[in-house]
Amino acid sequence: MYAPQSVPVTPLTPRASVLCGLFGTDIAGTRSPAMHEAEAAALGLRYVYRPVDFAPLGRDASALPEMLAAAEAFGFDGLNITHPFKQAVIPLLHEVSDDARAIGAVNTVVLRQGRRIGHNTDWWGFAENLRRFLPDVALDRVVQVGAGGAGAAVAHAMLTLGTGELVLHDLDAARAEALAARLNARFGAGRVRRAADLAGELARADGLVQASPVGMQGHPGLPVPAEALRPTLWVAEVVYFPLETELLRRARAAGCRTLDGGGMAVLQAAEALRLFTGVAPDIDRMLRRFAADA
Ligand code: NAD
Repeated sequence: MYAPQSVPVTPLTPRASVLCGLFGTDIAGTRSPAMHEAEAAALGLRYVYRPVDFAPLGRDASALPEMLAAAEAFGFDGLNITHPFKQAVIPLLHEVSDDARAIGAVNTVVLRQGRRIGHNTDWWGFAENLRRFLPDVALDRVVQVGAGGAGAAVAHAMLTLGTGELVLHDLDAARAEALAARLNARFGAGRVRRAADLAGELARADGLVQASPVGMQGHPGLPVPAEALRPTLWVAEVVYFPLETELLRRARAAGCRTLDGGGMAVLQAAEALRLFTGVAPDIDRMLRRFAADA
């Protein structure tokens, strides 16, 4: 059964300023600073969120130990971690939440009193997005496309929400098999398997979760046959650039209930802000602002 993330947070000293950031590669276009800083300002916090792009610095994952130590030395309170460092950061942390450990990826690191505490807010962002905007959809049988980094978080969310049977499709069949095995070990044998016949699986499914890069800028196209889209199939997308992917456009035209990837992006940021500061953000305000800025 679904339960909101109940991770204990160490509150900041009242009135302290907050310094957070994002480690990643090629992150010039990220919307995270705007999301975090606007909401923090509305909450009355003095909060700076600084992206640290490793690409122009000519750095890769081997620089993570040094860059984390530098962030601590400069007084950062927390960091988001994005592509390609979500796995590589794990051995450098003092603690990792149970969910992040199970997913095998950390996207949020809280820095407190010399300790580095890792979390994954991507899975919670996807789960909360679905719970808010498609609360009543059937979860008996769900097909998921994509078993990479986002796919691991989203599959964890779907099973936590109570999906009965999750069927994974990935161009890399071994990756889908490996993720299915890991999920079955945690959530119970037989709940996840690889799709041998995508069209046949879609014909029997209640919903489709799209967690591959197909549809994002630079990766146009449809990840499933267009004929699979029918009014009784709901469709949830993780891609949010653009917000309306070809899959969502076609699914809406076919009469499907749909969910775009923007909500997941906003909700993972909201939960990271809460973990960084101990202050609960106004999620509706964050969602409204994200939609207005799109
Ligand atoms: P990744 O490279 O780790 O994994 C992508 C997977 O998709 C790979 O396993 C690949 O084999 C598979 N794949 C590619 N094309 C496919 C196809 N046509 N059919 C089936 N499988 C296919 O990438 P990722 O980090 O998982 O990111 C995937 C997408 O999720 C990106 O577009 C990213 O922007 C998005 N994302 C969104 C959010 C959000 O908050 N909304 C968060 C994280 C990632």
